[in-house]
Amino acid sequence: MPQEAHVYSYSAVLMGSPILLKLFQHNEHLAHQVFRLIKHYENLLTVNRSPSEVMNINHAAGLHPVVVNPAVYQLIKCAKSASLLPNSAFNLAIGPLVKCWKIGFQGSSVPPADEISTRLALTSPHQVILDDEQHSVFLTQAGMELDLGAIAKGYIADRVRDFLHSQQVFQGLINLGGNVQTLGGASQMRGTPWSVGLKKPFAGPDDLIGVIEVEGKSVVTSGTYERWFEFAGKRYHHILDPSTGYPLDNELHSVTIVSEDSVDGDIWTTLIYGMGVEQGCACLANKPGIEAIFVTKDRRVVLSSQQLFTFTLQDSSYQLAPQGS
Ligand code: FAD
Ligand code: MG
Repeated sequence: MPQEAHVYSYSAVLMGSPILLKLFQHNEHLAHQVFRLIKHYENLLTVNRSPSEVMNINHAAGLHPVVVNPAVYQLIKCAKSASLLPNSAFNLAIGPLVKCWKIGFQGSSVPPADEISTRLALTSPHQVILDDEQHSVFLTQAGMELDLGAIAKGYIADRVRDFLHSQQVFQGLINLGGNVQTLGGASQMRGTPWSVGLKKPFAGPDDLIGVIEVEGKSVVTSGTYERWFEFAGKRYHHILDPSTGYPLDNELHSVTIVSEDSVDGDIWTTLIYGMGVEQGCACLANKPGIEAIFVTKDRRVVLSSQQLFTFTLQDSSYQLAPQGS
């Protein structure tokens, strides 16, 4: 029998999130390189402090286009296409609203309705003008702001995977706080998947509804329970409805997407969150590489399909419901 390989864990806090790297070799240097790579992308993409490439674009809103690094340009282009899908719940220009709600940051509060409508008028993705030749981005109205918070972690998780591959590391796991990308399986024996917990909403960090098992896939979760605040007995969470400016409100507590690339998982969690269970399952029926696990407020767990992962329910207060029910 081959020996079970030891897993080495390395952690850091970056992008306001706990970061966990698992490797099958004790290699502080490699872990350091991974964290430096994440920091590099954080510095390009953050909207929480200046300078960054995205902040340079935001500061020039209504004034002039800004030439950005090709990788940043491609990510913005990808975020704009997701934002322009019919009835998309994803909007890369949601920044003015994120900044006034401040959900997950100090000073979060329910903004006055007139402020929400004023800011909503500054969030049209059509007003994000891209120039493929110059790699420039122009926000046409003063006050517009890009926010890549719903896509950047997925993009960065894929870059970590690619970097590890370039270092001949084909087994491991990177967790960017809700965005997990796995490389290969969880042991040097073939056919041993990684286990990724499906969190129980509004419970302790180790309380799980069940376990998702995958090999070489990304698992991304967006939930109402990650960043929220309560005001006058009502909870407000951080995924905003681009059509109203208020937190998206439907039957869901969370959506998890299993896919090859984590950037797709990150985009699709937001898109599918906006669609809800029925429409989400119908949409994914034509997308074999993207699979969803819905957790509803009435304690159902719905799987859109199950080609890329296996799921084991652990919490008997939840019911594994048939697809689309
Ligand atoms: P997702 O569901 O994937 O995305 C939700 C986030 O996307 C929201 O928090 C908001 O930023 C944005 N958003 C909301 N509604 C929409 C919508 N309809 N369409 C598109 N986007 C939407 N957190 C800190 O506390 N401190 C930091 O310094 C910090 N720095 C960061 C730097 C970077 C580069 C990144 C990527 C994130 C950083 N964060 C930081 C976390 C960030 O503020 C978000 O909370 C985080 O990206 C949410 O990721 P998620 O996967 O939990 O949520
Ligand atoms: Mg997302």
